[in-house]
Amino acid sequence: MAALVKIEETVELPHPRAAVWPILSRTDWINRAIGLPPVKYEIQPVPEGGTRVIARARLAGVALTWQEFPFEWIEPKSYQVRRVFLSGPLTEGVMGLRLRDTSGGCAIEIFAHFTPRNVLGRLIARHVLGPKTMRDMRALVRHVSAHLSGRQSRVMPKLPTAAANPTTLALGLQRLRADHFPEPVVARLNTLLTEQPDVELSHLRPFAVARRWQADRWETLRLFLHATRAGLFNLSWEVLCPNCRSTRLPRTSSLRQLSRVAHCDVCNIKYDAEFDKSVELKFSVHPAVRPCDEQTFCLVGPGGKPHIVSQLYVEPGQQRDWDVPELTPDLRLRSLQVKASTPLPAADMEVVCHPERFELRVSPTRSKHPKVRVANPNAFPVLLALEQHDWDDEILTASRVTNWQEFRDLFATEVISPTEQITVGAQVVVFTDLRGSTAMYNRIGDAPAYALVRDHFKIMHDVVAAHHGTVVKTIGDAVMAVFSDLPEALAAVRQMHTQLAGIKSRTGEKLELKSALHTGSCLAVNANERLDFFGSTINLAARLVEHGRGGDLIITDETYWRDETRKFLGTAGDPGVSEEEHFTGAPAAVKFWRIPMG
Ligand SMILES: [Zn+2]
Repeated sequence: MAALVKIEETVELPHPRAAVWPILSRTDWINRAIGLPPVKYEIQPVPEGGTRVIARARLAGVALTWQEFPFEWIEPKSYQVRRVFLSGPLTEGVMGLRLRDTSGGCAIEIFAHFTPRNVLGRLIARHVLGPKTMRDMRALVRHVSAHLSGRQSRVMPKLPTAAANPTTLALGLQRLRADHFPEPVVARLNTLLTEQPDVELSHLRPFAVARRWQADRWETLRLFLHATRAGLFNLSWEVLCPNCRSTRLPRTSSLRQLSRVAHCDVCNIKYDAEFDKSVELKFSVHPAVRPCDEQTFCLVGPGGKPHIVSQLYVEPGQQRDWDVPELTPDLRLRSLQVKASTPLPAADMEVVCHPERFELRVSPTRSKHPKVRVANPNAFPVLLALEQHDWDDEILTASRVTNWQEFRDLFATEVISPTEQITVGAQVVVFTDLRGSTAMYNRIGDAPAYALVRDHFKIMHDVVAAHHGTVVKTIGDAVMAVFSDLPEALAAVRQMHTQLAGIKSRTGEKLELKSALHTGSCLAVNANERLDFFGSTINLAARLVEHGRGGDLIITDETYWRDETRKFLGTAGDPGVSEEEHFTGAPAAVKFWRIPMG
């Protein structure tokens, strides 16, 4: 039995760990930057839940096959991966980084531990593989440091950067200028498309780009949508796995190809596509502008799963101490093998993993940095993830984007398949109607009355679009609009009332607006090639608007008590009055509030 070959080195950087971690946890990029070959993964489902991953690559002409164990990490302290080779001169390799604070920034300990299979393996590990790994990693860490100091524009060295086709690029940028995008904005996009490495351009998230540019999110999205129309980007809809929050499915370029049920082969689970959570719109550079890199170099590293702050792998029958990060209420413990999730109290504890539940043996002493011991009494390994409960705010969900008028105007044909119904949770539905419009037509005549009603529709469309909502349809004088964000919807309703109060016919006739707002989930469907919404949330909102008297907002009791509404009403001053109504077909009376909008 050959002895373990340990190779370690420490590099000190003048940057805090919090700045270094998001870059050095991108193991996928690191593998590209240090010139490792692309890897082919074979993912085998395991009956207890999760998968076993076999990886294949060619390194210096030698075919390598290994079992890749899940990465373990603690953000922003350490990560490591264990590879068990099925053939060749090595039996095992464990590689990773440890980060610790120093007075001037942080120290990064690079380590690679190899178990040779024979004498040749020992020589290779000690004199070839080890020194090369350290040399490449040292250069990479220094480059990252130069990037963080502003001396390198690219985040990592040697990331392939294909040249852009100058003709297609110039043509696309010219179309954006014709769409009235200002020159500095066009120039910034040009820099992105010409200078960024290939990996940066295959899964672009407009809200993340907006953060890096320090630009407005919706303006950046508008730029991306127009750039797509101009042939610079492709857009794609991806269904994110609720577990790893990445997608392995073929990406679809049209909502029409989206199916309601998806499967993640890495996690070995089936899940529903949800418009407001798991369907994400991403952009990639159009292949006519630049070739796009879609190869996989590392499947399971921490950088691709920033929602997981720590991951731990426990062998069958083993116990392990878990150096967890600070336990805050927005974190929860989850495992595919335990098939349950739980928040963890901030106290010392033992966590026992049963197949269907976590058993927490909690000590009465509270502690911000508790000692956690995990026991796996099962005959199979357990992978534990401590993750952020909320979905990333930078995910541009299908619901957010299809709820925006600008998107619907630009991509009017983007609808789901007529045979699918897709759940859309957490929508804000607004109905409005005009009070006494029939009487007004009679009083002032068809032409002046119609002119006034048409002005009203224009106001409604503009106000809804300005608050990132969309007008789903109009029925007579009634308007149905949806929003993803409650404060924006409330502000839109107020503005509708204010602006409508400012218009009148030549004879001084005014319009009175009735409005209702409700929140809840609904179903997205394809209604005559338009994206429409159905369900009880919509039905209730439609019925509530009939209770409007004009110049008021009817709002359901549950929405009335939401924090966002409390805040809105706090500035409005008048809290409104409550009423109850038993609608036909409804199981119980519905309580709602009438808020003056005058
Ligand atoms: Zn998954």
